[in-house]
Amino acid sequence: MSIAENIKSYNQKLDGTDCKLVAVSKTKPNELLQEAYDAGQRIFGENKVQELVEKSETLPKDIQWHMIGHLQRNKVKYIAPFVSLIHSIDSPRLLKEVQKRATQNERIIDVLLQVFIAEEETKFGFDKEELTSFLSSDEFKEMTNVRVIGVMGMATNTSDQNQVRKEFASLKSLFEELKSSFNALDNVALSEISMGMSGDYQIAVEEGSTMIRVGSAIFGARNYGTM
Ligand SMILES: *Cc1c(COP(=O)(O)O)cnc(C)c1O
Repeated sequence: MSIAENIKSYNQKLDGTDCKLVAVSKTKPNELLQEAYDAGQRIFGENKVQELVEKSETLPKDIQWHMIGHLQRNKVKYIAPFVSLIHSIDSPRLLKEVQKRATQNERIIDVLLQVFIAEEETKFGFDKEELTSFLSSDEFKEMTNVRVIGVMGMATNTSDQNQVRKEFASLKSLFEELKSSFNALDNVALSEISMGMSGDYQIAVEEGSTMIRVGSAIFGARNYGTM
């Protein structure tokens, strides 16, 4: 299927749910993003700051750019003027930097807190206890130029669907807990659960995802060798 057909087919699948499609376009050339755009796609996800900035400079201005990959603190300044949502806040120090750069740009930046839900050791993110204590802190309350609108998680890369389902369900229940404890704060407005990728988005949607991040199933396999 073409990229346009893929975009349409995902939108049909999500029709009637509360879930949005983030088209993950990392490593793909602008022409392919433009094809998706022409098919109606407006939310694009990238995982490298430089690539995100370059694409945002040439592609249509009404695209909402989401940063989905691990973000280094020294690169926040490059995306702070325009990024629509950062999915990958994985430490208080990173959020503090986002707060600083958002203030300089006189804007409020929406973010998701990345939560560690997988069995693998390598994934970035907060665990539940860290998250609760951070959101309870005075340091966080003073971050008035960021708005925490949800959580993001990546399931274990496994063919065991029950495992994946369990991990997504745990993120959903954490989201509900955070909502009841912290939604009254001025810089918290929890509405989004970013979970699900090409291989596991169906389970994610069943477990309450509001944003699926789909790359290869839309744009084809990535070839890092030619980048
Ligand atoms: C690359 C990436 C995706 C998309 O992965 P696919 O398997 O190609 O759909 C989703 N989320 C994050 C954080 C990624 O880095």
